[in-house]
Amino acid sequence: MDLDILKKKYFFMPDATRGAVRYLTTKQLEETGTEAIVTNTLHLLIHPGPDVIQQLGGIKKMMGWNGIVFTDSGGFQLFSLLHSKKWKGKVHDNGATFRSPKEGNTYELTPESSIDIQIKIGSDVLVTLDDCRDTNLSRKEAEQSVERTLKWAYRCKNHFDKEHGGTSKTGKLLTCVVQGANYSDLRAYCAKELVKIGFDGYNFGGYVVDSDGELVVEEMSAMIENIPKDTIKYAMGVGKPEDILKAAEIGFNLFDTVLVTRNARHGTLYTSEGVLRIKNSDMGLDKRPVDINCNCECCKNYSRAYLHHMLKNEEATALTLLTIHNLTFYQNLIAKLNGDI
Ligand SMILES: [Zn+2]
Repeated sequence: MDLDILKKKYFFMPDATRGAVRYLTTKQLEETGTEAIVTNTLHLLIHPGPDVIQQLGGIKKMMGWNGIVFTDSGGFQLFSLLHSKKWKGKVHDNGATFRSPKEGNTYELTPESSIDIQIKIGSDVLVTLDDCRDTNLSRKEAEQSVERTLKWAYRCKNHFDKEHGGTSKTGKLLTCVVQGANYSDLRAYCAKELVKIGFDGYNFGGYVVDSDGELVVEEMSAMIENIPKDTIKYAMGVGKPEDILKAAEIGFNLFDTVLVTRNARHGTLYTSEGVLRIKNSDMGLDKRPVDINCNCECCKNYSRAYLHHMLKNEEATALTLLTIHNLTFYQNLIAKLNGDI
């Protein structure tokens, strides 16, 4: 697989958290125009576990998916669960030790184990473990997060190259995460230091919107200005359609967000005329498609009224159709950025 394409085009990656985009078959996923997905290392670590995935031939074989698969490092989800005290465990200089609330097993996630797990999952693009914290960090906390992120990135790269033979042996790419919270100079410093280690891509980590929900444009620019042009530039967790366009203008080319699929399930739909709430009572007799300008299976065949009725009655078919629509809307936005339509 030619992964260099990831450095040349725009991609939107839906979240296949546990190796599935919720409510879609892999064929339906392909039909939305999706070419790459991102899976969640932490959730796959807990179930079914990396050894099981490896025995089953890897996540792509399991899904019957021929496109590109990213794995995150597991850090973002784990650290936010630990910092918010939803899960028990602690973050330390060597990674994190934690207990899964479901079956009570104890796990240790280190830079090295994070790489091993991602290799076993069988993704195409790996992400280094980073020290991801909350939004409003003090300068000192942000500096600590950057230093740890750099140390862990170095350890990940070293392990990937020495234990697994790097890209030449595995055919996989390794990307890293730029931290630095709301301090643009720290973002710039972190990016520069990571470039010295050398990665296939640079991902903007931490929170991408401020407390007012505004994209952190200045911090994102500080990263872009300090990394090579011909590389993967992933704005993790971006976001709303207008934020994707803004991030693309800054220089990012990869995006993902849970909003697309989550909003679909709640009946919040993206259309060429703005956001549509299919659960609203005025949809009950509306014979029009969700979006007259959309060519997806949902818009070609069904009325707003029918979808309204199904969603009100929690029919799983509605969740499938609405997810297909929202994802198609996003992939069309990306196709426009690529100049394909
Ligand atoms: Zn549609």
